Amino acid sequence: MIRFDIITLFPQMFVSPFGESIIKRAQHNGLLQIEVHSLRDYTEDKHHITDDAPFGGGPGMVMKIEPIVKGIEHLKKPGETRVILMTPQGALFTQETAERLSTCSHLILICGRYEGVDERIQFFVDEEISIGDYILTGGELAAMVMVDAVARLIPGVVGERDSVLEDTFAGSLLKYPQYTRPRNFRGLDVPEVLLSGDHEKIMKWRRTEALKKTLGKRPDLLARAPLSDEDKHSVEELKK
Ligand code: SAM
Repeated sequence: MIRFDIITLFPQMFVSPFGESIIKRAQHNGLLQIEVHSLRDYTEDKHHITDDAPFGGGPGMVMKIEPIVKGIEHLKKPGETRVILMTPQGALFTQETAERLSTCSHLILICGRYEGVDERIQFFVDEEISIGDYILTGGELAAMVMVDAVARLIPGVVGERDSVLEDTFAGSLLKYPQYTRPRNFRGLDVPEVLLSGDHEKIMKWRRTEALKKTLGKRPDLLARAPLSDEDKHSVEELKK
């Protein structure tokens, strides 16, 4: 069971994404717990102010550090919690990051807004994570992406565990192509081997197709993937 505590200025944004489908069921089944907290609840002034103008001038507003740190200190469980700041300046979120975080028991996610958070936040978080090299209006969507990717790695969350283990990135390659009914769609046939019932042949075909897809679409992944001698031979053949 992982508990996620999310600190945000816009708690309502999380209602639908976490209130549907797999993530909803996982919470219901006690596999994960997601609590969303309004940053304004940690302010002490009567107007619940969470931002202020930047020292030194410049455009926009900066998120104040006091309410965020108050929230962290209120929610943190000593020796158990990992505190994460969502920021485009953080380390890039990958499947490896998701796997690492899926072994934690308690994560606090801080969602920034405006020009970001007062730089001194770095002394109160364990890591800074970015979901990609682009700028979002706030950390909420980034936190949702992270929770979703981490949650589906928790055993029991996705019904068929094998499907998670075979996903793109899980085995360093893109996933092999998949088809379902009908066998023929507007003259496009399903590869014959998939209808053969020969599981060994299908497994071999899928591995070669995964290599082919990765070589064509993400050669950078292929260069880092642990490949067997047979894989290396297939790649050489595919390159020809
Ligand atoms: N001025 C900041 C900068 O240049 O680094 C960008 C601030 S952004 C408009 C507001 C907030 O959105 C950030 O504090 C962060 O929480 C979130 N955010 C934006 N892009 C993100 C990304 N790629 N990954 C994670 N969080 C992001």
